[in-house]
Amino acid sequence: MRVLVVEDEPTICRQLAEALTATGYAVDTANNGIDGHFLGNEDCQPFDAVILDLGLPQMDGLSVLKKWRSAGRKMPVLILTARDNWHEKVAGIDAGADDYLTKPFHMEELLARVRALIRRAGGHASAELICGAVVLDTRLNRVTVAGQALALTSHEYRVLDYLMHHPGQVVSRSDLIEHIYAQDFDRDSNTVEVFIARLRKKLPEGLIETVRGLGYRLVAPAK
Ligand code: CA
Repeated sequence: MRVLVVEDEPTICRQLAEALTATGYAVDTANNGIDGHFLGNEDCQPFDAVILDLGLPQMDGLSVLKKWRSAGRKMPVLILTARDNWHEKVAGIDAGADDYLTKPFHMEELLARVRALIRRAGGHASAELICGAVVLDTRLNRVTVAGQALALTSHEYRVLDYLMHHPGQVVSRSDLIEHIYAQDFDRDSNTVEVFIARLRKKLPEGLIETVRGLGYRLVAPAK
């Protein structure tokens, strides 16, 4: 899952990026409204969630959000608002924000809200994603198979996390690349095949299906 952070205060931006990365997201950042709008508006930058500060230089966050929404960008957006500025929250939600947090905030709360946004965008009600014997707990970043903990590298986790959020759907290699790597990461499309091969060795047989010429699909085993 890939998250965009648009925040001009360097300390907050860095803390957000560090916490989100530690939680297993690929993170891109922008420190002004124009760059933030550009990143979130690109077809090749499919963000699974955006954290958008409203007080931004060059273009304010509300304008950024309105432009995205009028251009049909549907990714979940959490806005960061100044304390006690209730009309900013109202304006943000009316402009298409999915959630908000007031500064200062607790990082744990922000991470929980981001998880919930991504989950709901994929139509999942629970924090645990289940496919057959495989359970992925999005709160703990933990995967179990028939109750046994599974050791995964961070990129293996990202691939499985994306597939588990899109069960039964064909996910292309380029989808996976776009959602597991940040922009400045040296991307190599062959690595996706390597991650899939490693995951297959660790997961129940047949869980990750290859759809010839199109990509991969997570299939729950027939009971
Ligand atoms: Ca600000």
